[in-house]
Amino acid sequence: MMNIQMLKNKLPFIVTLACCVTVAGLAAGVRAADSADAAEAAAVVSPKQVIVLDAGHGGLDSGCVAVNGTYEKDVNLDIVKDLGALLTLNGYDVVYTRTEDISIYDDGVEGVRNQKVSDMENRLEIVQSYPDSVFISVHQNQFTQSEYFGGQMFYTTNNSANFRLARTMQELFSQIQPGNDREIKLIDNGLYLFKNTKQPALLIECGFLSNPNDAANLSDPQYRKKVAFTIFTGLEKFFGEEADDQTKQDVKSKEKKESGETEGLLYMQ
Ligand SMILES: [Zn+2]
Repeated sequence: MMNIQMLKNKLPFIVTLACCVTVAGLAAGVRAADSADAAEAAAVVSPKQVIVLDAGHGGLDSGCVAVNGTYEKDVNLDIVKDLGALLTLNGYDVVYTRTEDISIYDDGVEGVRNQKVSDMENRLEIVQSYPDSVFISVHQNQFTQSEYFGGQMFYTTNNSANFRLARTMQELFSQIQPGNDREIKLIDNGLYLFKNTKQPALLIECGFLSNPNDAANLSDPQYRKKVAFTIFTGLEKFFGEEADDQTKQDVKSKEKKESGETEGLLYMQ
């Protein structure tokens, strides 16, 4: 069983990797400085966007169990690993709360309840170690009536971008799940990992394991890949819209400058 210390040992690797990228970027910047000023060279260095991925449950905690016997923890992990691979391939830095079928409680903690508390504390510590990240937690839903189906996004108001992230993702899930007209839902702040999380964060319930069709789909590795790709597309769209907003803001700012208006307000934090 992997403990939190082992997991933490992986974190400096990611930081080191980011540093390497920065150093490489700096070296490129020095070469460019021959023909550009220092400010332009510094702009060459852009840190990678970090995505923290949380596969819900793990180890003794199976999460919910599908009508066909599939464990939620396994579906979550599979989707997160596929998603992480896609993100890494596309230049993001990915941090995982778990990459195996484990609970990440501290060594020496005894009793299922205490282990669960320790596991959640350690997950939160990882999430909060990357304040500039986007946090995605992947789960599967369950309900007493089997007819309920489809993915649903849950968000908090802790970050102003959360609503947009949730809405973007919900739209894409509706495209791969015909008939899914679920609406995004505000989390009542009772969820431990989301309560004090300030960066953009989203809880994705990919479907209902209590629904036979969703359960059959989510038990299929190919469908899990499709879900992972959907989440990846949603994140790309989210960052794309953010960049569009910034460009619009820059154009507006330039226009104001040219028309001689004061810029004071734009720079106020
Ligand atoms: Zn769950």
